[in-house]
Amino acid sequence: KELMRLDKYLADMGVGTRSEVKVLIKKRRVQVGNEVVNDPNRKIAIGVDSVRVDGREVSYVHYEYYMLNKPAGVLSATEDKHAKTVIDLIETSKRKDLFPVGRLDKDTEGLLLITNDGGLAHSLLSPKKHVDKEYYAKVEGVVTNEDVEAFAKGLQVDEDFKAMPAKLTILSQGEFSEITLIIQEGKFHQVKRMFEAMGKKVVYLKRLSMGSLQLDESLQPGEYREVTQEELALLK
Ligand code: URA
Repeated sequence: KELMRLDKYLADMGVGTRSEVKVLIKKRRVQVGNEVVNDPNRKIAIGVDSVRVDGREVSYVHYEYYMLNKPAGVLSATEDKHAKTVIDLIETSKRKDLFPVGRLDKDTEGLLLITNDGGLAHSLLSPKKHVDKEYYAKVEGVVTNEDVEAFAKGLQVDEDFKAMPAKLTILSQGEFSEITLIIQEGKFHQVKRMFEAMGKKVVYLKRLSMGSLQLDESLQPGEYREVTQEELALLK
């Protein structure tokens, strides 16, 4: 069984900072089982011991998983002095160690998985795993079948970056074209740079999916929900 210090347990669950929870403990407001505990070092068996603060049960949550529809204007980072981050948007979390799985540009919208599960993040982001990422974009000008073929062959984006084969689907053509693109990499500005290499400018970009995880279209930009057990099982 897994043991953890009482003060860390309570701090991890957002009851307060380490020093704040030590004060609560000293004030005899914390119980383990039926016993009032006054030692912040007390070892708690996670999932076995019952911990209560002012009589209210505080259960321990290891991992949290949120699906965010990232809005434009927000940074894919955990903290920033000046700009709002995707983590600032997750208001219901108990955990303070959440991070975004990968990055979307500041002006990109769409699916971002937010978690504190480093193992899952690693397996989704590892270049060796070739996890599909699907994007929807509006592109200035007419996207053509030549673009589709060039992307399918593996596009030489610039001198030192040749993209892996990518699946481009044209949804509409006109002054602005609408497309979807599936890539298995996640290089810096990759989608924008691929179109740039074809002389075209992406004017709107949204991620639709990552691996088996699809953006819930009922989420407005800035909204999020927990990832379901079913979605998680498929993703792992
Ligand atoms: N490709 C981009 O150019 N930007 C993103 O945010 C994601 C993929």
